[in-house]
Amino acid sequence: MRIFDPHIHMTSRTTDDYQRMHAAGVRAVVEPAFWLGQPRTNVGSFLDYFDALLGWEPYRAAQYGIHHHCALALNPKEANDPRCAGVLAELPRYLLKDSVVAVGEVGYDSMTAEEERAFEAQLALAQENDLPVLVHTPHRDKAAGTRRTLDVVRAAGIPPVRVLIDHLNEMTVGMVADSGCWMGFSIYPDTKMDPDRMVALLKEYGTDRMLVNSAADWGRSDPLKTRQVADVMLAAGFGEDDVDQVLWRNPVAFYGQSGRLDLAAGSEAGPDYAGNTIKRG
Ligand SMILES: [Zn+2]
Repeated sequence: MRIFDPHIHMTSRTTDDYQRMHAAGVRAVVEPAFWLGQPRTNVGSFLDYFDALLGWEPYRAAQYGIHHHCALALNPKEANDPRCAGVLAELPRYLLKDSVVAVGEVGYDSMTAEEERAFEAQLALAQENDLPVLVHTPHRDKAAGTRRTLDVVRAAGIPPVRVLIDHLNEMTVGMVADSGCWMGFSIYPDTKMDPDRMVALLKEYGTDRMLVNSAADWGRSDPLKTRQVADVMLAAGFGEDDVDQVLWRNPVAFYGQSGRLDLAAGSEAGPDYAGNTIKRG
């Protein structure tokens, strides 16, 4: 089984996690830029973080046979801090880098005017750079936040096929399915979706445009949730091809739109990686 986790914050995880992920079948990840818990106080703090996502983290992942790409953005929460607004001016040169496969995560946290401005500016940057976008939806008042998110996406004129709306649940999946955007689900140990609820949604909505991630970070989370969903899918009667579509081919298709997804086996890959011939989505 091959697994691509399309949303995970490996910066917050240990090498033990990389090892366990590889053993569970994870061969590729995308790490979106986000909030570190401790607020950043200046633009340079973001740039060092972006550089780590472009250099150090892919190097670390490669030691364990896992391909690492990233999405870069000013995250919704810190879009509210005027000390961080200058990040938007630095992003264009970062979005040119080879391992950047999307703009993200962007969107709403508390649904403020500042968040909306940063969201719209970064949707425009995505279009200028021909990159797909990973959009976070708020955890509070999720239905209203998701509806407004879809309005902003529509108004920006970006093709829905290039947009992934993440952290969905039973209440929000329907409107995103209708929008034509990709649907992302974060599977956490005790909040949001769990593997059984996820598989119920796959039965109801099918496997097209569906992405499953662990969104593992510095909070209570589990980088093996993707594998657990795969196992529950198989136990529920889905075939291996369905599992491969949701946990590998869908993320490859979505991020492959960047033209930068490089999943070729190479010197950086671990011993188990031989035989994979997929390159550039
Ligand atoms: Zn995240």
